[in-house]
Amino acid sequence: MSTVPLLDLKAQYATIRDEIQEAINRVIETQYFILGPEVQALEEEVAAYSQCEYGIGVSSGTDALLVALMALEIGPGHEVITTPYTFFATAGCIARVGAKPIFVDIDPATYNMDPALIEAAITPRTKAIIPVHLFGQMADMDPIMEVANRHGLFVIEDAAQAIGSEYKGRRAGSMGHLGCFSFFPSKNLGGFGDGGMVVTNDPDLAQRVNILRKHGAQPKYHHKFVGGNFRLDAIQAAVLRVKLKYLDEWTAGRQRNADRYRMFFSEWLGTDSTDSPGRSVIVSQPSPVTTRHIYNQFVIRCARRDELMAHLKAQGIGCEVYYPLPLHLQECFTDLGYDLGDFPVSEHAAQETLALPIYPELTEEQQQTVVDAIAAFYETPTEA
Ligand SMILES: *Cc1c(COP(=O)(O)O)cnc(C)c1O
Repeated sequence: MSTVPLLDLKAQYATIRDEIQEAINRVIETQYFILGPEVQALEEEVAAYSQCEYGIGVSSGTDALLVALMALEIGPGHEVITTPYTFFATAGCIARVGAKPIFVDIDPATYNMDPALIEAAITPRTKAIIPVHLFGQMADMDPIMEVANRHGLFVIEDAAQAIGSEYKGRRAGSMGHLGCFSFFPSKNLGGFGDGGMVVTNDPDLAQRVNILRKHGAQPKYHHKFVGGNFRLDAIQAAVLRVKLKYLDEWTAGRQRNADRYRMFFSEWLGTDSTDSPGRSVIVSQPSPVTTRHIYNQFVIRCARRDELMAHLKAQGIGCEVYYPLPLHLQECFTDLGYDLGDFPVSEHAAQETLALPIYPELTEEQQQTVVDAIAAFYETPTEA
């Protein structure tokens, strides 16, 4: 059976196996496993890659968000504005520090927070905004920074899916007060386990994050703040340093694959498959503010999405829904008092979006297989 996985990490590993093993062995020989020179080198490299002065390696993307909120002293009595259409960690961390997540709906074309809705959500308790650069495409940062600056709010960029993505030439993580990356294996720069990084251009915030990731101790055993163990492992850093050298090449592969999907879809759907209502499948163009889309995911909107997904999976084609239930409707957030209908654009997206395989090693034939299978699904008359 011609299978097309959603992601094929083995294909990528095969191309860099020797280099990775050498890097891991280097760490093993030193027996220096937590922070240390490998982590520091990665911090410098990722900060430079992201147009930031400082990088602080942490234990995951989730912990990057958590420690960023802690560094800004956000806690009980505070509100943080974010999007309900994101991975759970974005809002989970707000709740974990004791603050209240306040959601605003998304732009249907990009799935990112709609900046026009922020101002109405601001109260005297609002401390920060967390825009998410979803699927590798930038949130509209200029109006977000403008409203934040006007109200004296912090901005934390959740750039977990967007390392190297650009907004009008500026890199993800470099525009807010703090930026957060994830090195979860399925992210564009993925480790061999959990990992993350906070980036910033503010030396004081960099220092605070650095202290907080080591239980708030400075010097050792003298605790300035209550922090946690949010440290990055040296083995992860060594792996990530090898992979960072290939990231631009892999991003170019994802971009080529995205262009190829657009071409195959328009061959099937006719001249303009983009954003025309009444279509069974809509393939969006990247937003013009995103001058470099890194395609952590390639997401289409489709009618009868769940049936299509079952059809593709039955043929060995990997696909996934990001995300089936917006965060304002999650059981754990019942206390926030939101209802179905509060964020219709997010709710609608949750029913229609489908992520297709987009990893760099995907072949043209595999992509044609995916698009042919989707076309066959819609061209088969329904039983009902
Ligand atoms: C992956 C992800 C995170 C969390 O990162 P982990 O490394 O898995 O903890 C946070 N936010 C978004 C948008 C993500 O995609």
